Amino acid sequence: MTGANSKDLICLNRDCPDYRKRNTGNIIKKGFNAKGNQMFKCKTCGVRFPETKGTVFYNRHLKEDQIILICKLLVEKNGIRAIERIMGIHRDTVSKVVEDLARHAREVTDFLIRNVGLTKIQVDEMWSFVKKKQKNLAEGDGDDDRQGDCWIYIAKKTDTKLHLAHSTGKRVQATADEPMKTVRKRGKIPTKDKKATFASDGNRSVHQCHPGEL
Ligand SMILES: [Zn+2]
Repeated sequence: MTGANSKDLICLNRDCPDYRKRNTGNIIKKGFNAKGNQMFKCKTCGVRFPETKGTVFYNRHLKEDQIILICKLLVEKNGIRAIERIMGIHRDTVSKVVEDLARHAREVTDFLIRNVGLTKIQVDEMWSFVKKKQKNLAEGDGDDDRQGDCWIYIAKKTDTKLHLAHSTGKRVQATADEPMKTVRKRGKIPTKDKKATFASDGNRSVHQCHPGEL
């Protein structure tokens, strides 16, 4: 990370009156830490933090270019074990980076995708599995979200193909309902004249949670 401007940063101390507030002039530069990273200070609460605070680079033993390489390998569809072999980094460490990336991606999506005009929404489902297929589960393996068949439900705008929401899990009503709830949260409330219409391939659980219109 290089050259963060104090005007672009916000205080992430939840107890601070200026928590997440922008352009209040409360953030100033305040020396460097042991790693040589620029430190900043919130004048309101006095908390010091490096410029990486609140990012995927914060508080990790990995170097910045290693984290960037993990991102690139993920985008190229490499699995966690493949990344472990390529980079010589333990899979648990890679998993933690992936979880953090997912959390950031969710926050960014929540921030950017809101008040979307809802017209036609296409709902698709996709089958996959975790560890092994359902039919190969042994007795005593259990039947939860961590193994066996897994379904991915995706809701997107038909006209622009904007990915509005998705969920993963067993093929149960709750998994099918989840993206619908997110669509409601991210979309504009439909009016009498502007209704949202859902289209799916006829899966019963998808129909049950969105009976055609919002
Ligand atoms: Zn503060």
